Amino acid sequence: MKWTLLLLCSTLAETTLGWTYHYSNKTMNWTQARQWCQTNYTDMVVIQNQKENDYLVSLLPTKRKAPYFWIGITKKHKNENWTWVGNNSTWISEQSWAANEPNNNHSNEFCVEIYVNKGGNRGKWNDEKCAIQKYPACYKAQCNVTSCNKGRCLETMDNITCLCEPGFEGDRCQTETALECPPLSQPDNGYLRCSGGNLTSNSTCRFKCNPGFLMIGLPTVTCENPGIWNGPRPICTSYKLALLALVGCGAFSTIFCCCCFCCMKHRKRKKLAQGRQPEEVTCQPQG
Ligand code: CA
Repeated sequence: MKWTLLLLCSTLAETTLGWTYHYSNKTMNWTQARQWCQTNYTDMVVIQNQKENDYLVSLLPTKRKAPYFWIGITKKHKNENWTWVGNNSTWISEQSWAANEPNNNHSNEFCVEIYVNKGGNRGKWNDEKCAIQKYPACYKAQCNVTSCNKGRCLETMDNITCLCEPGFEGDRCQTETALECPPLSQPDNGYLRCSGGNLTSNSTCRFKCNPGFLMIGLPTVTCENPGIWNGPRPICTSYKLALLALVGCGAFSTIFCCCCFCCMKHRKRKKLAQGRQPEEVTCQPQG
């Protein structure tokens, strides 16, 4: 079994970043070739630019004659665009096709092979009937759920890139972005001192009031992610105003408490009065 696998599959490149390429030494039609790729790796090979095309050809074994290798670009009908099945992309360059190709020679050449011979057509493509037997060329994706902590993993033949969600940074989106909090202005009749100059995560600002003024509110606020102060800026008021406010508040509280007490007392009396009313008696004539 082990020897069979070694004969049928070959690994072309072992890199820690980006796709790895693989192929089989057994020929099959295009549909079987794709299934073989999907079963053993990720999908039939996708080519996104000329550099990837040339790199793939440099890794595949050179063949003196057909059959060559199936690649993962196809179409279902004559008038459809060629599409890479692995990622639904449509890249084709002016130099991709061999001379006089794609010729749709049999009116149903909807699959594509890549030449790996030594001639001038090396690395060029040819449209072919999908039923013809050729070797599958596959890729294995390196992106997985753990590749990017807080982001989307993008992959090419030699690189993995993480597109980070807002608020995260780093090559694997593993670091929370330290967003700046909006600068705080000095309070009237007071001043503030902030630790550090960037006002980012965990920066703290301390407020103090001028002599003769009383602080209302918390004396410190801290910048928390994502760039939000954890409390409002305090105000500095004169002791006189604070005292008046305190007295006013006390008076309001007293009035409010009185109102509540009266209201409760009134409801209690009403309830007692209802309890004393005699129950309604229904008299029925005797038969
Ligand atoms: Ca052709």
